Amino acid sequence: METYEKKGRAWKELNLGHLRNNVRELKQMVPPDCRLMPAVKADAYGHGAVPVARELARMGIRDFCVASVDEGIQLRTAGIRGQILVLGYTPKECLPELAAYGLTQTVVDGAYAEMLAGGPGRFRVQAAVDTGMHRLGFSWTEPERILALWRQPNLAVTGVFSHLCVSDEDTEDARRFTLEQGRRYRQVLDCLYGKAKSRFQTHLLGSYGILRYPELAFDAVRPGILLYGVHSSEADARRQERPAALYPVLSLKARIACVREVEAGEGVGYGLAFHSNGKKRIAVASAGYADGIPRALSGKGHALVRGVRAPVVGRICMDQLFLDVSKIPGVCAGDEAVFIGESLGQRIRAEEMAQAAGTITNELLSRLGKRLGTRVVAERSEPIYNIKIPGRKEACAPCCQRNA
Ligand SMILES: *Cc1c(COP(=O)(O)O)cnc(C)c1O
Repeated sequence: METYEKKGRAWKELNLGHLRNNVRELKQMVPPDCRLMPAVKADAYGHGAVPVARELARMGIRDFCVASVDEGIQLRTAGIRGQILVLGYTPKECLPELAAYGLTQTVVDGAYAEMLAGGPGRFRVQAAVDTGMHRLGFSWTEPERILALWRQPNLAVTGVFSHLCVSDEDTEDARRFTLEQGRRYRQVLDCLYGKAKSRFQTHLLGSYGILRYPELAFDAVRPGILLYGVHSSEADARRQERPAALYPVLSLKARIACVREVEAGEGVGYGLAFHSNGKKRIAVASAGYADGIPRALSGKGHALVRGVRAPVVGRICMDQLFLDVSKIPGVCAGDEAVFIGESLGQRIRAEEMAQAAGTITNELLSRLGKRLGTRVVAERSEPIYNIKIPGRKEACAPCCQRNA
């Protein structure tokens, strides 16, 4: 197992044992022959695409989803083989890189198909189908345009997929719409089967689809946020309606630079936005919004210092922020402040931090700063949260090998 350490002033910690656990859990939620095609876009939701994809590859995963050609090239350069599907638009000038790095391109609509067909070289492609989201894809009403891809001599069609847009919502309407999207997708596939000149991969579900509509798992599923052991929102994390014991892969930590006494009536930080009403001990932590701590957490967020919650006070700066450590004895320079993760049995989850910042974890994590150090812990440590579900099937280690 590889361990890697470069902490610096602020860093993320990756628990690859938790990643492996989450892969096994997700495999259990879908039929045994359904492949995992993890979304490692946006630097694996801020975790680090290379260490994450390498660990997934070691577990036998052979298909990866990214958002751009550059993300695909980064994985190939790091030695990742198998299929790398670029889910998003690739402009004409980048087409040679698609071919050079053996990436699979999403066909975003009919006009894009023509551009690819006239492009330089042979391309592996998957057709996106718009089943109601109206983002990327051929309309579900025109399967014959998808069928036409097989007639282009320079295109090799390896898959036809769609994407759900309300699978995370609880209402009856959302459920009905999601099932309708499934029906439309099936209808497209029914038109293609027998006429398409080669076999192709089918996939529809992201994380919430896997949680709530496992009956719509086709050949593969594309988990993103849940793979990282995180729900999108605090409310979802509380609800947890299907058996899942997913452990957060990432912790976010920074060093305390100094601790100072501030007298009553003095202000702290930009705009002197925090005014202490009594004598306070303020710790300056070495992380700011450029590291991905949202500025919206000014005066709202928390960090754990020595196992105790310290409130964020004043405005969050680009590179530093202030913590009120008045109630925490002994805090000194060099101590760790934990923004996401555990400290002496206490924890702050990404869902909580995202909620306080008025966003979802997907955004919070994918915007973590590039300059953060990374510490990879490969061992299987105790889960940060382990939701016990009565009668849950035991994880079967070999199930991931089926992916190979
Ligand atoms: C990002 C993305 C996913 C993964 O979504 P999660 O909700 O994070 O699981 C799956 N499919 C497509 C097309 C995506 O863009």
